[in-house]
Amino acid sequence: MLKRLRSHVCGAWFEGNGTAVEVFDPTTGVAIAAVNNSGLDFAAALQYARETGGPVLRAMTFAQRGELLMAIAAAWHEFRDELLALSTVSGGNTRGDAKFDLDGATGTLSAYAKMGAKLGEARFLIDGPPIRLSRSPRFVGRHVRMPRVGVAIHINAFNFPAWGMAEKMAAAILGGMPVVTKAATSTAVLAERLVEILVEKEVVPPGVFSLICGSAGDMLQHVTTQDVVAFTGSAATGCRIRSGAAVIEKSVRVNVEADSLNSAVLGPDVKRASETWDLFIREVCTDMTQKAGQKCTAMRRIFVPVDKMDAVREDLIEAITNVKVGNPSSRGVRMGPLASQAQLADITAGIEELQTVAEIVCGALGPGELVDAEASAGYFQQPVLLQVKDSAAAAIVHTREVFGPVQTILPYSGAAAHAAALLNLGDGGLVASVYSDHRDFAAELALAVAPYNGRLNFGSKKVAEFSMGPGAVLPTLIHGGPGRAGAGEELGGLRGLSFYMQRTALQGDEPLLAHLLADGVEI
Ligand code: NAP
Repeated sequence: MLKRLRSHVCGAWFEGNGTAVEVFDPTTGVAIAAVNNSGLDFAAALQYARETGGPVLRAMTFAQRGELLMAIAAAWHEFRDELLALSTVSGGNTRGDAKFDLDGATGTLSAYAKMGAKLGEARFLIDGPPIRLSRSPRFVGRHVRMPRVGVAIHINAFNFPAWGMAEKMAAAILGGMPVVTKAATSTAVLAERLVEILVEKEVVPPGVFSLICGSAGDMLQHVTTQDVVAFTGSAATGCRIRSGAAVIEKSVRVNVEADSLNSAVLGPDVKRASETWDLFIREVCTDMTQKAGQKCTAMRRIFVPVDKMDAVREDLIEAITNVKVGNPSSRGVRMGPLASQAQLADITAGIEELQTVAEIVCGALGPGELVDAEASAGYFQQPVLLQVKDSAAAAIVHTREVFGPVQTILPYSGAAAHAAALLNLGDGGLVASVYSDHRDFAAELALAVAPYNGRLNFGSKKVAEFSMGPGAVLPTLIHGGPGRAGAGEELGGLRGLSFYMQRTALQGDEPLLAHLLADGVEI
């Protein structure tokens, strides 16, 4: 009998009574669980969170909300080994990939917990000092940020069932909003177990955190004006969510984290085998193979000065072919399968589309040589490196996100302006990297691409030993990007709380304002 994945709503577990959707171990293709939430009353689930969880959270101080986040992190950490193993079975993750997701989740929760402790006994934020509005120093303006009194609806992508849930939850809970989170179906096994731990250990007060496993049903038809929706996934789904009738009618805040054709630029100054060159090769290879390339921040387009194309290709091929692909639980394997059959089909189609303008220079369509895994059973695709001759003409490379172990190297003249013009053809990304020790080159490029990217990562010999690469999303820096990346913004320390709080301007008698701000903390 397959494990049935349940939702946790209205303070209780819920299992649907319709036809179940199966989810599979991507290494073997064997079904491991089934999900079905038909009959779930989404309107009641949201209302329970608003009415039961909201008042509890708003009554808590920032320090208490921080303690709650720390307790969640501690509960998950206690089950770390079990959760890492589950991540391997349900998501095809190597132990390193699984840690990236799970430790990233607990690390982000802990970071927000510490911010809560620092904010202390306050319950809302005071945004900046008094602003004098007249000749009299008594008549002033202030800004406050108060928790919104609705529910935060979080819809997550399949690739980070733990981190994706936690990074959104951390900012919402610290901001004072209860959460209803919908896990992506293909990797919901891990999401359900994470929530099961919190329920069994009674970590979270009733209504503060609910889980939907399975379809989103008619949930977004029940949003109200105080609710917010934060979505991570494909641009197509993001568009549907944003344009939902109730979302538009009720002016519901929506944050979208979507596709991104992230890029890296190698500077013309970087010599082969130098520290900066090696960092570039290492980080490009990591982004291609970590989580089998299923990272929203992974580089897809690698811009290389035309006279360095041959050397870059040779070094990348050497690095990539050293990566063993196969059963993610086997020793030495550094890349596992894609997370689902649908992913494999999409990546196969994507590589074929790229091949209309680019040539494969490493790897091939198909699983390739696998360690301890049956190619015909699992969802494997070996790493594929492509190369184009005419970067500007290769339109599909700048518009088609192939969400797997696939990258394309593209030549540019060596001028920062040329690299920037090509990079910006991606029309908005989460992160772009510049590898150069030449400050003027890096600065010129950065100024031209910053409006198109949520984050810029500068790789150089000065930081080579500290660099964690562009793929890691840090709680202290914002995550999100303009244009095709969804135009959203998350994290960034306390900046991440803004989405969950209403900013209100106050104008009046200074002592009166000081009195009503007594429960706030200035940031
Ligand atoms: P997806 O197919 O768009 O699904 C994302 C989530 O939306 C899933 O939970 C899915 O549920 C749900 N969903 C689907 N249709 C919906 C609807 N009509 N109403 C409400 N929810 C709906 O994306 P994915 O395949 O999981 O993720 C891959 C994509 O996510 C890639 O394009 C990647 O770039 C992007 N991504 C972006 C970021 C970022 O931070 N920018 C991070 C990670 C991934 P089901 O699973 O039940 O279908």
